[in-house]
Amino acid sequence: MSTSLLYHAFGIRGYEYTRTDYQGGHTIFTIHQDPKTCRCSACGSPQVESRGQVERRFRALSIGTRATFVVLPIPRVECKACGVVRQVTVPFADPRRSYTRSFERYVLELSRRMTISDVARHLGVGWDMIKEIQKRYLARRFAKPKLKHLRHIAIDEISVAKGHRYLTVVLDLESGAVVFVGDGKGADALKPFWKRLRSSRAKIEAVAMDMSAAYRQAVETHLSEAKIVFDRFHVMKLFNEKLSNLRRALYQEATDVLQKKVLKGTRWLLLKAAENLDEKHDEKKRLKEALALNQSLATAYYLKEDLRQFWEQAGKTFGTLFLDGWLKRAASSGIKMLQQMAKTLAAHRSGLLAYYDVMITSGPLEGTNNKIKTMKRQAYGFRDKEFFKLKILAIHETRYELIGS
Ligand SMILES: [Zn+2]
Repeated sequence: MSTSLLYHAFGIRGYEYTRTDYQGGHTIFTIHQDPKTCRCSACGSPQVESRGQVERRFRALSIGTRATFVVLPIPRVECKACGVVRQVTVPFADPRRSYTRSFERYVLELSRRMTISDVARHLGVGWDMIKEIQKRYLARRFAKPKLKHLRHIAIDEISVAKGHRYLTVVLDLESGAVVFVGDGKGADALKPFWKRLRSSRAKIEAVAMDMSAAYRQAVETHLSEAKIVFDRFHVMKLFNEKLSNLRRALYQEATDVLQKKVLKGTRWLLLKAAENLDEKHDEKKRLKEALALNQSLATAYYLKEDLRQFWEQAGKTFGTLFLDGWLKRAASSGIKMLQQMAKTLAAHRSGLLAYYDVMITSGPLEGTNNKIKTMKRQAYGFRDKEFFKLKILAIHETRYELIGS
């Protein structure tokens, strides 16, 4: 093998070819370094004396279907300047890695089209090695996103591992990028984020989030200047949950067979936005019938549809009038669920109205959440939590997209 082939085929330059062995279906090239070219790996000084060598084996690109390895006795040298004995640098592989950089690049190339298992099988290496290569690649690019430019962010929790474990995700609402993934939910999960944010000197103007106290306090403490906007999707989600509970309670209370039947079939219709009701399937008619049978359900439903209009008002003055009107109607409805909802919204009034100062929602996070759900289905789960978190940080960058496991 010529030195130029070593370079052009395997990305290995500056070594001399020793011999080729064929063992167990593998091709093994042994190479060596000319002692004259040895340098201290710390200071670069050529004033070094040989102190033996350490033989190492690196996985390289395959030749055809045969796995290929490069064996290199790495010289150990004593530096006259530093006075320390060290191995010389190996430029074709990262420190402590058992594969060459060109092998790594090839793995990443394949990873855009094949699953980790497929790449591992194709190259005859372990799943963990492929995952490790992907992980280091993602870490280089995404482990520390730049936060300096952040202005509008959304904070939310996502459930992983069937709701037993949580991650906290921070999204840059202007670029759509995930800029932080923290362990768990609530204030503690955000601690590393505040630390990094402080050193970035970013000026956050507004934060979209749900109405739970967990993140609110943390944001008020760490971003006292930022406006908190309670997100419309979360508000409507909360309302829909309560509406579902009301329907269920009414169903359980109902003694009339017809009423029970009608209530049973309306669960999803109640939660749908009125304009999305499907005429073809008589959804409007069915919902109307159900509501006609039950006054409190009808009131709750119409107030839900009404509340959605809060975010469609022509500015803060109209928004304020609308919200206060809504709160009054809900409070005087005589329906416990609506009264509770009114109480919650009243307690978060300024954060709801803040929407008219900074029109942000954590809607974009929903899209990110859906992508994360897909990743979970691809069995990333929590096998390697740090890897999973890196995948989330990289989620918006389709050009860096790697196929799942
Ligand atoms: Zn040195």
